[in-house]
Amino acid sequence: MNAAPAQTRAAQFAGLANHSFDVLVLGGGIVGSGVARDAAMRGLRVALVDRHDFAFGTSSRSSRLLHGGLRYLEQGRLGLVREASVEKKIIHEIAPHLAQPLGFVFPSYRGQGRPLWQLRLGVKLYDLLCGGRNFLPSRGLTAAETLAALPDLNPAKLRGAVRYADALTNDARLTLDTLRSAVRHGAVVANYVRYLDAQRKRGCWIAQLRDELSGCPLAVRARTLVNATGPWAQGIRHSAVELRLSKGIHLVIDRTRLPVNDAVVLTDGKRILFVLPWSEHVILGTTDTDYGDIPENVRVLPDDISDVLRIVNAAFPRAALATPDIISSWAGLRPLIAQDDGPPSDLSRAHEIKQTQSGWWDVTGGKLTTYRLMAEQVVDQLARHLGRPAPRSRTAFEPLLPPDEASRYSGITPPPLSRAAVEHYLRHEWAVTLQDVMLRRSGWHYVAREGADHAEQVVGWMAEIAGWSADKKSQSLAAYRGTAH
Ligand SMILES: Cc1cc2nc3c(=O)[nH]c(=O)nc-3n(C[C@H](O)[C@H](O)[C@H](O)COP(=O)(O)OP(=O)(O)OC[C@H]3O[C@@H](n4cnc5c(N)ncnc54)[C@H](O)[C@@H]3O)c2cc1C
Repeated sequence: MNAAPAQTRAAQFAGLANHSFDVLVLGGGIVGSGVARDAAMRGLRVALVDRHDFAFGTSSRSSRLLHGGLRYLEQGRLGLVREASVEKKIIHEIAPHLAQPLGFVFPSYRGQGRPLWQLRLGVKLYDLLCGGRNFLPSRGLTAAETLAALPDLNPAKLRGAVRYADALTNDARLTLDTLRSAVRHGAVVANYVRYLDAQRKRGCWIAQLRDELSGCPLAVRARTLVNATGPWAQGIRHSAVELRLSKGIHLVIDRTRLPVNDAVVLTDGKRILFVLPWSEHVILGTTDTDYGDIPENVRVLPDDISDVLRIVNAAFPRAALATPDIISSWAGLRPLIAQDDGPPSDLSRAHEIKQTQSGWWDVTGGKLTTYRLMAEQVVDQLARHLGRPAPRSRTAFEPLLPPDEASRYSGITPPPLSRAAVEHYLRHEWAVTLQDVMLRRSGWHYVAREGADHAEQVVGWMAEIAGWSADKKSQSLAAYRGTAH
């Protein structure tokens, strides 16, 4: 049985209020969770809070790839590709249940995009930047070989393709498992607790927080504060971050509608779009457009859908995908560091770690794939500031979770619908709402056309386990059905 440490909400609050911490992390996305885990593993006293659910933000809305980023090669960002390529292999080693190696076919057409010889050179360089140890060696494919691998691909003007390897993960699950590990190492974590403000007194921060479920205020003492609030980072009191938010959407369809065994890389000449086989389904995405509203309002709009379907249908005309094929979708925001006025797809995915005032760090940018390295660099700086002879980071080789814990409910695709899973999420993974279970713990929301029926079943189990009233049950269901994620 998955015996992850259980922290009841009351115990979480007692833990937050009654201790003085070395570090308080704001934000339970992948970056904040990674910082909490690394700091706790090095013996620091750690607290982490998130104003929504853990992984509510970008860390449950990505393309779910562990990748060096072939596209960044084209932009000459070799350092970034090298860094992320090493990290994708590290995640595969420490969390094999969350890194499934996947072949990617990148077709090349006459009169469009890069010539084939450049792609061939590019993927060889990509393998080299992975230390020559990529999951599979890359290779070139002739047009005939490409069509044998992807029989439904548009053959007109096809020159051939390259095949290279990256890996698929489950972003929300990677975040949750990282937090479970942080808690095993002594961190205190709480979702639905919002950071409002902080004052620095005699070398210590007093942070004002609010329990978003009860409205109760709470003060927490910590010697250092880490702002890891992703797309929210510039609205945080004391933050010095300037962001440019870029929106990206994904669509999920049934795999029978687009039967691909490899991932496929498509381009309309301006940007890249992935077709990702995901068990019985296929994920299509993403887009890259400037975004100016508050992060909570991000939505998939009809124009986003037609944009994605246009590119996929041009490459797979026989599929003739249309809106009714869409089973589920999500929209996310890239917290990119504001640099210039070019298109968002040209902005660097590099990260920045800055101590902007004594004991306050802003951590911004980066990728899911590089979260571990970002966390290691943040904790190195924290330990120096705290004057602690903290040991070196062990996150590059210590398994994320013991094998028995990284089991049944913790994988790349959704586990079978069961009451036992729901009970596990409530008791051991801080799930509070129906969305927490359907979207971020299980992923059932994304794979079931009859998702709403699943939701009725799940909310029934939640009500039994947590003792909800009939009113609370129907309110939860209504809130879930209004979910725009
Ligand atoms: C469309 C898209 C596709 C992507 N695809 C990939 C990919 O395939 N591979 C890859 O490596 N990277 C990818 N990325 C990038 C990657 O997803 C992000 O870099 C990463 O998830 C950012 O994590 P984060 O922890 O910084 O932010 P988030 O996950 O957004 O976490 C920030 C958290 O802070 C919390 N918060 C906000 N305000 C407060 C407050 N006042 N108090 C407390 N908490 C607060 C929020 O609730 C949120 O949970 C993609 C991004 C997008 C948008």
